[in-house]
Amino acid sequence: MKNLYLLFLVIIFFSTGCSNSNTENISVKAKNIILLIGDGMGPEHIKAAGWKEVGKEGKLYMETLSKSGYIRTSSADNLITDSAAAATAIATGVKTNNGVISLDPSLNKLITILEEAKALGKSVGLITNVQIIHATPAAFASHVESRANTTEIARQILDNEVDVLLGGGENYFLPNTTIGCFPEIGHRNDNRNLINEAIDEGYTYVCDSGSLEDINSSNVTKLIGLFSDEGMDRPFSPSLDLMITKAIEILAKNDKGFFLMVEGGQIDWASHANDAENAMNDTINFDKAVKIAHDFSIEDNETLIIITADHETGGMSTSLVSTGESSEDGPFYMPNGEEFYINWSTTGHTNSNVKVFAHGYNYNLFEGEHENIFIYEVMKESFGF
Ligand SMILES: [Zn+2]
Repeated sequence: MKNLYLLFLVIIFFSTGCSNSNTENISVKAKNIILLIGDGMGPEHIKAAGWKEVGKEGKLYMETLSKSGYIRTSSADNLITDSAAAATAIATGVKTNNGVISLDPSLNKLITILEEAKALGKSVGLITNVQIIHATPAAFASHVESRANTTEIARQILDNEVDVLLGGGENYFLPNTTIGCFPEIGHRNDNRNLINEAIDEGYTYVCDSGSLEDINSSNVTKLIGLFSDEGMDRPFSPSLDLMITKAIEILAKNDKGFFLMVEGGQIDWASHANDAENAMNDTINFDKAVKIAHDFSIEDNETLIIITADHETGGMSTSLVSTGESSEDGPFYMPNGEEFYINWSTTGHTNSNVKVFAHGYNYNLFEGEHENIFIYEVMKESFGF
């Protein structure tokens, strides 16, 4: 009887392995998850950035991953989501109202994938080029009724002991009497200096790209890097790819694995401003971080990487000919010199579906069209909760 049971287990093991190994050698459980979110990055942003970077026959790196699908983005109370509700859906598997950070529509606290990963003994990290207390990273490590409660979000993120925090937003960690590495005084009126508190708790602190680059990752287990008073200025220094490289080096030292969220946060800002040049450049920069995550996952073979967006911003459309509309931006040029144009239909968000790309355990589940909460469900299953 016992032998039969063992045989059954062996059959299950091999059948699971085979179903996942049609194109690549996929591990049977994800030790690590890297989730990359292009804020505001709709399908046309990806197309436009691809035309600019590699031409219309080429592909961005994210588009070369083995499976892709579409994500529906509406929030609990609105067809058009904001980043707070969208990130809450992705982080917790529950749709909430616009503006709310990881509480349900009745304001009950929701546990996030980052908190669940931590409970499993994994290391966790958050990276962005906007303020680290901004809605997308906030939804993974804090719980507040309003995304505007930014100094409280900073406190909660540090209380959650996120191992690696890299981004902008120094102001939210400093008292309103104190200047840090950057010119503005802090925003906190509770007189707490959260940067000093973090250092006291064993964090390494950096505030410029050179210091981040110089970090010897084998000596660092907790890192906070704040690289501007508010959102980071272009050209981003450090780049997303340096931040993700360092974060992976530190987080991957944990034998139990890690969860890392990386946000290309200013694709959204450029799109609110209907600034096609920066929306495309930021998408191209985000794509470079995707390549680093993918390279790691191929070498490591125990990592699920997911690339998606929280929503589309700007109602962007691409065209090979000028429409002559006042909302038109361009001409822009492909590497072969061919012209193209961008049109915008709004300075706000839209209800457009966004894309999802994945590589690693369970990557095949993303084919087709899914609600944004599905991303959480796949991450949770992949971690084996
Ligand atoms: Zn936005």
